[in-house]
Amino acid sequence: MSKVIGIDLGTTNSCVAVMENGEPMIIPNSEGGRTTPSVVGFAKDGERIVGEAAKRQQAVNSDRTILSIKRDMGSDRRIRIDGKSYTPQEISAMILQKLRRDAESYLGEKVDRAVITVPAYFTDAQRQATKDAGRIAGLEVLRIINEPTAAAFAYGLDHGQAQKILVYDLGGGTFDVSLIEIGDGVIEVLATSGDNHLGGDDFDERIVDYVISEYKKNEKVDLRRDTAALLRVREAAEKAKRELSTQLKTDIVLPFLMQDKNGTHHLEMSITRAIFDELTHDLVERTCGPVNQVMTDAALQMSALSQVLLVGGSTRIPAVQEMVKRLTGKIPAKTLNPDECVAMGAALQGEKLSAGSGNGMVVSSAAQNVILMDVTPLSLSIETVGGISTKIIDRNTTIPTRHSQIFTTAAPFQTSVDIKVLQGERHFARDNKLLGNFRLSGIRRAMAGVPQIEVTFEIDANGIVKVTAKDLGTGNQQAITISSTTNMSEDEIRRAMEDARQYEAWDRERKEALETRNEAESLVFETEQALSKDKTCDKETKKQIKEQVSHLRKALGKTKPDSITKTEADELARLSEQLKSAASALHPEP
Ligand code: AMP
Repeated sequence: MSKVIGIDLGTTNSCVAVMENGEPMIIPNSEGGRTTPSVVGFAKDGERIVGEAAKRQQAVNSDRTILSIKRDMGSDRRIRIDGKSYTPQEISAMILQKLRRDAESYLGEKVDRAVITVPAYFTDAQRQATKDAGRIAGLEVLRIINEPTAAAFAYGLDHGQAQKILVYDLGGGTFDVSLIEIGDGVIEVLATSGDNHLGGDDFDERIVDYVISEYKKNEKVDLRRDTAALLRVREAAEKAKRELSTQLKTDIVLPFLMQDKNGTHHLEMSITRAIFDELTHDLVERTCGPVNQVMTDAALQMSALSQVLLVGGSTRIPAVQEMVKRLTGKIPAKTLNPDECVAMGAALQGEKLSAGSGNGMVVSSAAQNVILMDVTPLSLSIETVGGISTKIIDRNTTIPTRHSQIFTTAAPFQTSVDIKVLQGERHFARDNKLLGNFRLSGIRRAMAGVPQIEVTFEIDANGIVKVTAKDLGTGNQQAITISSTTNMSEDEIRRAMEDARQYEAWDRERKEALETRNEAESLVFETEQALSKDKTCDKETKKQIKEQVSHLRKALGKTKPDSITKTEADELARLSEQLKSAASALHPEP
């Protein structure tokens, strides 16, 4: 059976791991990087570029480059490129497709199963959208798991004794904090909180704002007017931020940044860690709220914590580490690479799932029967009289789970009820997110308060919710599996899968055509070299070879590397073969 890969599908970067000899191992991408930017670019010729190359081209192709698509998962946003509209799932699938292909070429075997991680704060619609993205990319998603849970699992391997652990995960675009309990062979998430609109990008933006306002003050030039200049500043800001994690001062140097009627503008500026800390102080402080929240939810003092784990690239920022230390009173553990441990945890889970553990619990042979449980990130309720949200499942309930409650009718002789399923912590239904609704009809006519309607919520191990309403009088029942209206229908997913497969075939064909073209170019060059050095062939043979070279060169001249077609490549291959056989008569002197 094929290997299961663990994918940390991040807002800014993604990472893939696989189990090798019982240990999780990071799979480098085709460019050699251990993480892959979650960036998709559409070249003018329709080619899709994903990862490092897409990130590199964004400065010159900004309106056709898609960043941080994870923020839009589960939303109804559509991305329009060349008259075609893409869902966030389809864009995410392009990233997943690259990760899968890179994993396949690294492992030398087909990869079609994965465990994918999402922030603990993700709603059902966002989880479902992530699962759909996996399917579109040709992956069977065995499980969607929370990122902090995966990290805890990766760390949990070495810890046998009972302990409570805080996982502080500050990535590129999301912040998650989770309280994990390890002990008695069980890893349990006791509480989660966070902010899925806070991450390293915000820190970059603070540097960008600072650089731009300083530049405006000193040079009287507004860099925001120039998209390409702005992107270069943003890139440089992120680099500066990284450098400030290990250095006390860094320089931003951007020559030829912008051109206007007054000439060319260059940028040179220094930023100290003290300035950076001042610019980002409130962002770091903002993470305290969710940390305190999980402790309150679990009714625990900081002193109950045995360990604090740092996850996510942004936890390399010294001020973040200092704050966590100050707030929790613990020195955070960093034995695993913060960018990689989530994918490693996912790979560990993948192996256990593929070994066939059931019931939503993961049994690790490496950790001697460690069981991992997830929790619901938000409460689930239904709307009742007066627009009240009546909770059926509380947030932070371990999943899979099933809860039932009996309701009745509010009006006399009411024969149907509308069930509105809500997600969120607010008292009134209108303030929570409506996940879906359905009607149970055929209720026996009776006075208000007489019919008994049992509403059951079931959440499977992936966090997918099924709601059933049953009239206990008639046995009549109705159910829905929540898939938000913003998510894709089965038909749309199938179409997108087909598109992705076609694109993959087209991409392969294009690569092969380009390779043929490159080989033909080299062949022309090598044959000309051989012709000039040959002393044995007669004039006539040489003339014939020269003619063949000229044919091939002409055919090459008619093609463009960016848009070479299969027919053109076939013609080049045919001419190359002819030339090769003719050129075999040459015996160039060394
Ligand atoms: P992740 O999503 O975990 O890959 O985290 C990505 C975020 O971490 C991005 O915003 C990066 O800029 C940030 N990051 C990576 N390395 C560092 C570093 N050495 N110092 C500060 N931030 C970093």
